[in-house]
Amino acid sequence: MLSQRSPSDEYYQQFTIHCLNEPRKNAKDTELYQMLRIENDPINNFEDLQLDLKFFPHLFPYAKNGQYSERKIKLTSSEFVKSQLMSMNSSFRKDSQYLFFLLHESNLRALKAGIYHKLNTINMRTKLTASKCLELLNNNELEGNLTTIFAKLRNTSQYWLNPRSDIETMITWYGPVTFFLTLSPGEYNWQRLDFYLREMNSNVENGKSTSNLISLDSVSTSRIVDNEFKAMLDFITSKDAPLGKVSHYAWRREYQTRGLQHFHTLLWIEGAPIIGENTTDEVVKFISNTITCHKPNEHDFPTISERIEMYQTHKHNSYCMRSKKTGTRIVSSCRFGFP
Ligand SMILES: [Zn+2]
Repeated sequence: MLSQRSPSDEYYQQFTIHCLNEPRKNAKDTELYQMLRIENDPINNFEDLQLDLKFFPHLFPYAKNGQYSERKIKLTSSEFVKSQLMSMNSSFRKDSQYLFFLLHESNLRALKAGIYHKLNTINMRTKLTASKCLELLNNNELEGNLTTIFAKLRNTSQYWLNPRSDIETMITWYGPVTFFLTLSPGEYNWQRLDFYLREMNSNVENGKSTSNLISLDSVSTSRIVDNEFKAMLDFITSKDAPLGKVSHYAWRREYQTRGLQHFHTLLWIEGAPIIGENTTDEVVKFISNTITCHKPNEHDFPTISERIEMYQTHKHNSYCMRSKKTGTRIVSSCRFGFP
């Protein structure tokens, strides 16, 4: 197994080759990475040693029923993880150390699957042996070959190669995307989320704020955000067709710094005019039919009016305001052109 080397390491640790947010270092592969000693067989450690039982005695007080424990009906790893996170017993999903442990284990499984796949798909006659691997490393040829190894490891650039080419194919076949829709939760004022988290964690004292509950129970938060997004997608693609009849769509989930997920969605609308092909009038008519800047009367529609005020109204801040020099004066203006 390949890992990154640090001068202080006695045992080489199991990290992904590039730290995900780090710029690539220009050094020879052999300077950056080392092969782990084979006899350690680190990939199987989780399985053989039942590390979850040993690391988390407070979750497994009887040292039983861990991920790799014997059981009558065999569970796949993902089935096991799901059953832990969805369990009535909230201590698993509320232990962030355990969540990261499961993530790490799942990353290793993805890498292992990638390596097996790589070894199996290579031409049988040039099968990748340890010596061949070392030769590739020394000749700086290994990195170019890592695509298939990392393809299953979420959020590596190799992982995104497939979805990206899918989108490119969709654009080629279905034409330009009609709407780019971003859905982001406003968790601070989201009563349903607050209600759900209190319901799920009824043993938590009442004084806690919504954001406290979110960090306490990130799994339940993710579940409700996911459910709400799917419900929104169902509505958008339903026969009520609020944005027009959706012929195709694609979406991607992202996490931002504050840790909550948001969704980017591409929608292809049937019969949508295309800028440059259709007349300006047709484009304007389509947009006017679908999008409005009208704000409903706050007396008749208090809720929607309040939401528009809160979420759909641009308020200037240091990010959008730019100072521009016009002649002798310095004027600051909004980079998005809002008055
Ligand atoms: Zn602004």
